[in-house]
Amino acid sequence: MILCIKSCGYSLFLSCEKKIKNVKKLSYDSKQNTPKARVKRAKLSKNLGPIFTNNFLYKVFVLFICLAPPLVTSCSYSSGIEKESYLAANAPIKTLNKQLIVIDPGHGGFDIGARVRSVQEKALALKTATLVRQYLHQKGYRVILTRSRDVSISLAKRTTIANNTKSKVFVSIHYNAFKNPQVKGIEVYYYNRGSKWRQKASKKLAQLVLDGMIASTGAKNRGIKTGNFHVIRETNMPAILVEGGFMTNSQEHSNLSDQKYVEKMALSIANAIEKYLKT
Ligand SMILES: [Zn+2]
Repeated sequence: MILCIKSCGYSLFLSCEKKIKNVKKLSYDSKQNTPKARVKRAKLSKNLGPIFTNNFLYKVFVLFICLAPPLVTSCSYSSGIEKESYLAANAPIKTLNKQLIVIDPGHGGFDIGARVRSVQEKALALKTATLVRQYLHQKGYRVILTRSRDVSISLAKRTTIANNTKSKVFVSIHYNAFKNPQVKGIEVYYYNRGSKWRQKASKKLAQLVLDGMIASTGAKNRGIKTGNFHVIRETNMPAILVEGGFMTNSQEHSNLSDQKYVEKMALSIANAIEKYLKT
């Protein structure tokens, strides 16, 4: 502000106007990104420029600014709001103070996983994971998907993503298939070696997720199980692998082809993760 006064009334006024406009823009549009904001500022500056080509108007403004100290205070205050609004707009997730969760849709790309008629495990896992992310976002959590498209991604890359981002929880999503079509139900795996703390935490997460899924879908409960899968073994945080049903069972195949059923299941996973993080 001192700099503004030293330069001239013109720049002071222009500066105040720009800041006030910018505060408005940033306040009501939290998704405004920086490049667009810059364009907006540039346009505003261009539009205000011609007003001051008239020398008389310019002098009137200089006089007005000099005789109106309260406006200086107001501009200074606006400048402060702008700073805060800018920070809030650019770091909305941090301000929610919620943990980071990594969701891992199994398979992808050339690795289809199980396939029964038109239903592919890789697609179903991605659909479920995307929904879980949506529900967790709605709760304010930060979420990373190890893949958000139909691409092949190594198991090592999946665990590296979780470990490097220091996520609080890792949840891998899969669907089952078996030669006996009568076999059905949901089961959740965790790794029971290594750090005692991680074993205990993973088991607790597995139980909460399984209970939630069974309660919301009415599917057969196959229990929590221990497994030595790469993604739950090589991760550093509590980690589970969800098998959300058997694609080879006609009833479950039909359920998993129903969008509402998958939404219900995804919501129960998101709710269980939140429950785990809150207890
Ligand atoms: Zn799988």
